Amino acid sequence: MHDKTIAELATALRGGEVSSVELTEHYLRRIESLDGCLNSLITVTAEQALETARAADDARVRGEAGPLTGVPIVHKDIFCTQGVRTSCASRMLDNFISPYDAGVVERFKAAGCPVLGKTNMDEFAMGSSNETSFYGPVNNPWDTERVPGGSSGGSAAAVAARLAPGATGTDTGGSIRQPAALTGITGLKPTYGRVSRWGMIAFASSLDQGGPMARTAEDCGLMLNVMAGFDARDSTSLERPAEDFNACLNSTLRGLKIGLPREFFGEGMDPGVARVINEAIDFYRKLGAEFVDVDLPHSGLSVPVYYVVAPAECSSNLARFDGVRYGHRCEAPKDLMDLYMRSRGEGFGAEVQRRIMVGTYALSAGYFDAYYLKAQKIRRLIADDFRNAFEQVDVILAPATPTTAFRLGEKTADPVTMYLSDIYTIAVNLAGLPAMSLPAGFAEGLPVGMQLIGNYFDEARLLGVAHQYQMGTEWHQMAPAGFE
Ligand code: GLN
Repeated sequence: MHDKTIAELATALRGGEVSSVELTEHYLRRIESLDGCLNSLITVTAEQALETARAADDARVRGEAGPLTGVPIVHKDIFCTQGVRTSCASRMLDNFISPYDAGVVERFKAAGCPVLGKTNMDEFAMGSSNETSFYGPVNNPWDTERVPGGSSGGSAAAVAARLAPGATGTDTGGSIRQPAALTGITGLKPTYGRVSRWGMIAFASSLDQGGPMARTAEDCGLMLNVMAGFDARDSTSLERPAEDFNACLNSTLRGLKIGLPREFFGEGMDPGVARVINEAIDFYRKLGAEFVDVDLPHSGLSVPVYYVVAPAECSSNLARFDGVRYGHRCEAPKDLMDLYMRSRGEGFGAEVQRRIMVGTYALSAGYFDAYYLKAQKIRRLIADDFRNAFEQVDVILAPATPTTAFRLGEKTADPVTMYLSDIYTIAVNLAGLPAMSLPAGFAEGLPVGMQLIGNYFDEARLLGVAHQYQMGTEWHQMAPAGFE
């Protein structure tokens, strides 16, 4: 059963081949026997999952099942889940049981999807390797001595290892696409504002966006159909007409104009990654797509700009964790200042503290103009580069990451090297565009991801372009040894 995609599982459920309870039990057994060597889940919610599965089976009998009713999923532990620990992989929230559901969680509940558990991640979604988690690193199922990427590393590893057919993730600077690439799955970061951020613990509010992670583009579309939609509780949520994100799956690619950004094909890309991306370009050419070189002249500034904007916003967002209202509180505080300082010092890990300090500095009087304001101006130039490019092309194709999965510990000593692993993904968040990563081949036995970037609200077209590739290739069907 676990070799099936979400679309196939939905068909099997509809045809009565399997019940949601059977399916949920099957995945729970896999989690129990296989997650020990991956650590992809922080919390397993077996009882709640089975309860939802029973309700889903009953709804089906009553003729009330929707497209995904009964299909089990997992949520990144950044989404608040009522009555269940929501930790953001931080010691700060290790004891936090959310009193409410995130907008995204509500939507999957209403769709009748059992939730198997909450996935491991980088602490507060800050990282590119899942090594900053309070609950320990996640191992990549393709090679358990390597990282799965981050920050949605647990979601990516769980889907790649077939412990769940789909997972939610969040992408602030690449955290859906980079781990999807390093684990050989498909992940989509929607247009900023498509998916509600309500109840999604905030890291950098102007960049954060939730999205689906699954094995195929079609599955991502099915999940996005559930996830996307207006939410009045999120002030940046966009009101758009309802849309079927899988409406363009079978559209022809003849005449499609695909842009290749010169800046993304320069130095720093691993030769194995370059080979795979060039093969993907040939594939699309055969389907009738045309390639055009485009320039994104300011994209080289995206990593430095991001590392001003994201820490600035995080320093403000994380100010709420003060040891007073909820979360970690130090033992026997002497006075209020001691309570704040020790609670935050003990509750946050090193990377989170580093970001808070950088962000506080960048926002302080006297530096605000020089750093934050300047970064916002360059951010506009980065978005304008894409605007110009999309006057010439329909989608942009690029690598998702410069290398394949690196070894655990390989980059932890040097934050800047770690930050550079998002060099191809970050500009997209600064511009608020939709983009995805899909498996495009292997280099030395490790998955390589291809990135497709679309214009605002062009998710359906992106998914169609990805689906056509997946119809003609088998990379998305490969399972890591031991997890088939
Ligand atoms: N790796 C980037 C960071 O550490 C992006 C993380 C993310 O997208 N949440 O900030």
